[in-house]
Amino acid sequence: MVAELPVNQFPIPEPVLRYEVPFADALGNAEPGSEPWRAYGQHQLWIGRYPPDAPPLYVQELRPEGLLEYETTEFLLHRVAAGTPYRVTHLMGFWHVSDADLLWFQIPRAGLTYYLALAGGRTNLPGNHGIVWYCGECAHEIYRQDFEHVGHTGRLLSQIAVPVVDTFNADAARRRCPACGWEHPPAYAFTPLDPTTPAAGGLSSW
Ligand SMILES: [Zn+2]
Repeated sequence: MVAELPVNQFPIPEPVLRYEVPFADALGNAEPGSEPWRAYGQHQLWIGRYPPDAPPLYVQELRPEGLLEYETTEFLLHRVAAGTPYRVTHLMGFWHVSDADLLWFQIPRAGLTYYLALAGGRTNLPGNHGIVWYCGECAHEIYRQDFEHVGHTGRLLSQIAVPVVDTFNADAARRRCPACGWEHPPAYAFTPLDPTTPAAGGLSSW
């Protein structure tokens, strides 16, 4: 067992370089489910174990050239660069922008696919984050809240984002694109697979 560490340490400390134990613990677990976000030195790590029939998790990025999707059933290591809006399908119903990189691993094994999100990794990051929704028709920004100096990505995604999602969902006018009038569907919070959410994200469409 690895002790759960607080994820809201600030300032972000110097690296702790031995991460082998938590990786081995989580990857040796063959039960579907998820680990909570944990902090290891400057990094924050989330691990999910998804059965083959679960909706797929893959990274979407909103780039100046348009929407990029990294959908594959193969092994994947993908870097989301700091400052790039991204979301993960069936895991987070909002877009996140961070001043830290995020590394996304997809590790298919027989009977389970392991997903790892590893965020942070630099000294003295301010820990600034944005939660954003964009128009599904014209990519115009619909609604955004920014948070300064809140620290780690795991805390932002799993805790701070929750009331932002509620605010976004509470008013259809808030979900309407100011450029073209398209209405964004209600969003959902960071929702990893656990025993009470047999469908990842509790959703099937996005
Ligand atoms: Zn629009």
